[in-house]
Amino acid sequence: MKQDYDVLIVGGGLAGNCLALALQGSDLNIAIVEASTREQLHNSPAGDRALALASGTVHMLEALGIWPAAKALATPIKTIHVSDQGHFGKTRLSAKKEGVAALGYVITARDLEDVVSQLVAQADIEQICPARVIGIASDDHLAHISLKQQDSSLNISARLVIGADGGQSTVRKLLEIDQAVTEYQQTAIVTTIKTEIGHDNVAYERFTSSGPLALLPFKDDYAVVWTRSKEDAEQLLLDNEDEFLANLQACFGYKLGRFSLTAPRRSFPLSLVRAKSMYSGRVVIIGNAAHQLHPVAGQGFNLGLRDVVQLAENLLDAAQQGGDIGEQALLEQYAAQRQKDHDTVINFTDSLVKLFSSQWLSLAAARNSGLALFDLVPGAKKQLARHAMGLNARMPHVGSRRRV
Ligand SMILES: Cc1cc2nc3c(=O)[nH]c(=O)nc-3n(C[C@H](O)[C@H](O)[C@H](O)COP(=O)(O)OP(=O)(O)OC[C@H]3O[C@@H](n4cnc5c(N)ncnc54)[C@H](O)[C@@H]3O)c2cc1C
Repeated sequence: MKQDYDVLIVGGGLAGNCLALALQGSDLNIAIVEASTREQLHNSPAGDRALALASGTVHMLEALGIWPAAKALATPIKTIHVSDQGHFGKTRLSAKKEGVAALGYVITARDLEDVVSQLVAQADIEQICPARVIGIASDDHLAHISLKQQDSSLNISARLVIGADGGQSTVRKLLEIDQAVTEYQQTAIVTTIKTEIGHDNVAYERFTSSGPLALLPFKDDYAVVWTRSKEDAEQLLLDNEDEFLANLQACFGYKLGRFSLTAPRRSFPLSLVRAKSMYSGRVVIIGNAAHQLHPVAGQGFNLGLRDVVQLAENLLDAAQQGGDIGEQALLEQYAAQRQKDHDTVINFTDSLVKLFSSQWLSLAAARNSGLALFDLVPGAKKQLARHAMGLNARMPHVGSRRRV
């Protein structure tokens, strides 16, 4: 193992590994530090969660050489229905009308993580794993990192450190970057169901008085992401399968016939965590380390991948021009470039959660006027669906710049 790197990526999750692949083939000397073994990551129950990949994300994964292997494990979304329980007016967004092959794709986090980490293993990228970052300090030329690897400690340095170590980011804590936290007091219940009537690649996003419910076509089944209050979710997880399914069915109806469970129920407590700065010294944070979102609009990884692509483009440019990839001006520029996208997606997601949450708008009248507004704003639901699918996303250049 070397002691000095150009780029040290902390966290070998989706954001960290995608960034390593985006930088692969350049002259930059890269290493990834990951706290868990691949086996531990593969076996984590959190890997069951279904990710809706926006079409813009798919283009980026194509540019990074990830999509061919991931596509085989993903299910296309050809139609999206957005509706409010008890209100008229549904919105349908169709791939055909938008002139695209699919509006997006559904894949489990585990499958996508496996594909990405296999590509990293095949590439010339050093992996320091399992190892945990426990200290960071920057000077004018280098960042100095202390690692804990089993019982031993290790000191290495890099021109730039990237914190891609998730919502509980140690890097962010070590840098003492403040964060804004909104605890939604909600939990996402994730599972998979079989429906009597096949999915025909239709996704449903249904806003109900007890919380949003997403049914995403996945292989022959539907992946369910059901947001409920913390208390409701605790009960729904304790209920036996029949009770759980009866509740789910009451929420969605019988449009798809009877439901049966095909996977265990998993729960994810929901909060919005946003770092108040994206960098400090020679360290920058990306993905969930910088922003952890409510999954209502399925935007977390989609947003994180746009961080990855922007940062990779800037670093490849700087490296090609012989510049200092860890200099303050470069990190400042990256943060400014990402600010607007972060603001838009975070505000949009947060407004959706609040508008459709009985916790936040406990008065039925207020909630009703909120919903009516949503119906009246021309194309608001369509905007939601287009936004969720990233149909307006810009295309990355990073794939064409990579020297593989
Ligand atoms: C229920 C649910 C549904 C979701 N649905 C969607 C969706 O439909 N679409 C979408 O785009 N997004 C969705 N998301 C969000 C998406 O899952 C995340 O945004 C994404 O997985 C975050 O990736 P990451 O690499 O930033 O962080 P993580 O996946 O958390 O990876 C961080 C990595 O860093 C490692 N690490 C942590 N600390 C250290 C340390 N000190 N040293 C070294 N390594 C460390 C960890 O072991 C981990 O491997 C959903 C999330 C949830 C909870």
